[in-house]
Amino acid sequence: MSHYSKKEQMIAQSIEEGAVISKWKDWKWQVKHVIQTIDQFEKLLKIKFDVKERSELTQTIDKFPLSITPYYLSLIDREDYHNDPVFKQSFPSISELVMEDCDMNDPLAEDKDSPVPHITHRYPDRVLFHVSNVCAMYCRHCTRKRKVGDVDDIPNRASLKKGIRYIQNNRNIRDVLLSGGDPFMLSDDYLDWLLSELQKIPHVEVIRIGTRIPVVLPFRITDKLIEVLKKHHPLWINTHFNHPREITASSKQALHKLADAGIPLGNQTVLLSGINDCPRIMKRLVHKLVQNRVRPYYLYQCDLSEGLSHFRTPVGKGIEIIENLIGHTSGFAVPTYVIDAPGGGGKIPVMPNYLISWSTNKVVLRNYEGMITTYKEPDSYEPVFCDRDCDHCDLQLKLDEADEYLSTGIAELLSDADEAISLIPENTERIERRNEESDHFEEAV
Ligand SMILES: *Cc1c(COP(=O)(O)O)cnc(C)c1O
Repeated sequence: MSHYSKKEQMIAQSIEEGAVISKWKDWKWQVKHVIQTIDQFEKLLKIKFDVKERSELTQTIDKFPLSITPYYLSLIDREDYHNDPVFKQSFPSISELVMEDCDMNDPLAEDKDSPVPHITHRYPDRVLFHVSNVCAMYCRHCTRKRKVGDVDDIPNRASLKKGIRYIQNNRNIRDVLLSGGDPFMLSDDYLDWLLSELQKIPHVEVIRIGTRIPVVLPFRITDKLIEVLKKHHPLWINTHFNHPREITASSKQALHKLADAGIPLGNQTVLLSGINDCPRIMKRLVHKLVQNRVRPYYLYQCDLSEGLSHFRTPVGKGIEIIENLIGHTSGFAVPTYVIDAPGGGGKIPVMPNYLISWSTNKVVLRNYEGMITTYKEPDSYEPVFCDRDCDHCDLQLKLDEADEYLSTGIAELLSDADEAISLIPENTERIERRNEESDHFEEAV
């Protein structure tokens, strides 16, 4: 029995005259033969676009280039390709040229939060390290679309060393998230070097890799790569499946290898109109993921990047999906639905409301079925006053070394040891007026 589908064989043959089908699973062969033109695409899938469509598609590709691996292309259902989730994620659409007022070049302000090249430092204890500018497949919904195809290269060691130095010099960074591009487009040796350098840093506790390779080029997860990764625990991997159709025999095999290597696997899905904006599709997806030892991690609201407007759904669609998951299925199969704050505030979780009301000693809650219940709170509760002197606290957090603990944000408002009573945005007219008044006052004095 052949290990290859008819379609895989057909595509392999048309890519390389008389191609030996055994090359199909060679990831370098796949990368060498990525489909980047409409002609190739038509030839391989035996579909034909009309003249008008072609000219629109050419315009789109001029702005946002096209690249699909033969493997990912082989998942497209030719009979109904217009509605196919794989087609829609990989093949350009004229809608990408539509610009809306809210569209932004860099909605997450990643460039602004970049202290040195390749690093985005947004949160106190973790950084995003863009270690590769290359992807095997260009997702049409890419949030970093502005950069796709720009500088299609892997930064050299000298360049990455600057990022490594930044991490070395910031003792608060305990979690480094490798992203890109796709970090798995780096060679095994290069990745080994990079992971070793990061691991040598005493304050780096975990390393994470964000990759779409198991989805678009599962053959890249070779035994040799696994050997490299295994050396660098604790290593966590987040992948990016958006539709149950992407979970194939080959991608399962890649996931199993990673899980067998002891790597905890998570998945980040982007909510995409016309692709997965359906509670049933999402439920099927999360079930397939946990079956393959992948924990659904985040469900993202589609960002405000240019060229993505046709993929966006109302936030209500995401809430509806989460409403259809919580309680209805295993707790660990439910991702956290987040909106990555435009302007660079980071990820903000959004959820249906379960807390309906409360008084001083009771809260009213509802469950997934609509049952309304109350939870009676304790009549007396002795709060532990926190002055951050953990050594003399009844609660036994014994820190090895005095760790100066400063709370920020909402946590600061809740803390006993802080006097802050409000957080006020700086740039409102009211605050400006206050500042003006105090300036006048100073002048007068
Ligand atoms: C998403 C993200 C992280 C990681 O966030 P987690 O919620 O810890 O997964 C870190 N830095 C940046 C800039 C990010 O966008």
